[in-house]
Amino acid sequence: MDKCIFCKIRDREIPKEFTYEDDDIMVFPDINPVKPVHLLIISKKHYADLSEVRDETLLAKLMLKTREMAKENDLDKNGYRVLINGGGAQAIMHLHIHLFGPMDQTTLL
Ligand code: 5GP
Ligand code: ZN
Repeated sequence: MDKCIFCKIRDREIPKEFTYEDDDIMVFPDINPVKPVHLLIISKKHYADLSEVRDETLLAKLMLKTREMAKENDLDKNGYRVLINGGGAQAIMHLHIHLFGPMDQTTLL
């Protein structure tokens, strides 16, 4: 099967500046940000979406990093949204968490 775009980013086949990386996860800016801060927090291992993941440690790690990134970008005081598309609602079939902001309560995006 052809590698997905996020696997190519992971493997440095597509140049990208990483905000964070360790053995299991990585963080980089969305190419088409919907807010001034728009990060993608992804697992390095390819999963099509949330429902494929059995590794609870990985899920916790992704969520904790998302929280940390919100704080690091001052979104914890200025409004943020965390979004996961799945089940066919995702454009990229590789598990990723969107974190974006700042924002208020009144809009969905
Ligand atoms: P999804 O709808 O799958 O949850 O969202 C996929 C996201 O990936 C979109 O927000 C889109 O802008 C972003 N994206 C698509 N291709 C690339 C890319 O090559 N690099 C980066 N950084 N983001 C991408
Ligand atoms: Zn992939």
